[in-house]
Amino acid sequence: MQSAWSDRDAEAAVARYEKFGRDVALRVYTTRLLGSDPRLVLHGGGNTSVKTRLVDLNGEEADVLCVKGSGWDMGTIEPAGLPAVRLAPLQKLRAREQLVDEEMVRLQRANLIDPSSPNPSVETLLHAFIPHKFIDHTHSTSVLALTDQPDGEALCREVYGARVGYVPYLMPGFLLAKAAAEVFDRDPSVEGLILVKHGIFSFGADARQAYERMIALVSMAEERLARNRKPAFVSATLPARPAALAEVTRPVAGAGRDSGVTNPDRDGVRPAPALFTATTSNEYAEPATSPVAVNVRAVAGTVVVVCTVAVDPANRRTR
Ligand SMILES: [Zn+2]
Repeated sequence: MQSAWSDRDAEAAVARYEKFGRDVALRVYTTRLLGSDPRLVLHGGGNTSVKTRLVDLNGEEADVLCVKGSGWDMGTIEPAGLPAVRLAPLQKLRAREQLVDEEMVRLQRANLIDPSSPNPSVETLLHAFIPHKFIDHTHSTSVLALTDQPDGEALCREVYGARVGYVPYLMPGFLLAKAAAEVFDRDPSVEGLILVKHGIFSFGADARQAYERMIALVSMAEERLARNRKPAFVSATLPARPAALAEVTRPVAGAGRDSGVTNPDRDGVRPAPALFTATTSNEYAEPATSPVAVNVRAVAGTVVVVCTVAVDPANRRTR
């Protein structure tokens, strides 16, 4: 994928959000770039942050982490969607052994610069524990297609080598933040982190560097997938005569099976491709672990019925 960075658009954002400062303005700008690309945020988004200084309600300067707040979409985020949390109290939490989610949320809220801000992301501490100024995080479809394989970490190591660190799977929260920071500390020269079966982080000294590292790293995953991509489309010609509903529903199971998805209830049914058009699109290298969209078009008299069925055989939870 290509970088969508534009100096002109970046400066327009800085002018538009002047009162929030350059850091927050550029954070809004590249967060929107990431959030408007479905290849990066299809599986439930991601989050971004910037470490900066701003003036608190008492008129005093404070070091803060502005991090995506819950309830905001990355593609349309505004400065209000990046609540500012005092940085030092967040970083101090790394010394703890345990921190349950409820306590973590309370501590994050207690350190908000503006108490009316939304809750900072559940991944706030990970952003706080990594020292880089700009941090971008996505659930890139291509990266997930690699890490969700049974040998996902080995596949990623083959693609990225020492360019990134590798963090084993943990639920988002305090322990994941600590584990990620430990991986980072072992080699602070990494450009990002692969969170196995979760997503990818990239870091930078400025907004453009963090964003373009994300694009470069995701592109590497895309190229790796393209090397052993399986046939993407299965199709059949639309018939001259209309199909009965029962004849349409049966082939759907067949289409799914062709793409590597099996349905035990319908396994005995044979596809009848002469009666319908079924297109399976599979963007991934391994159909057995990736979502599959099945588009079915059936002609009944003068009516054409089009439906899309999304199948997630891995039953992966959205994050
Ligand atoms: Zn995430």
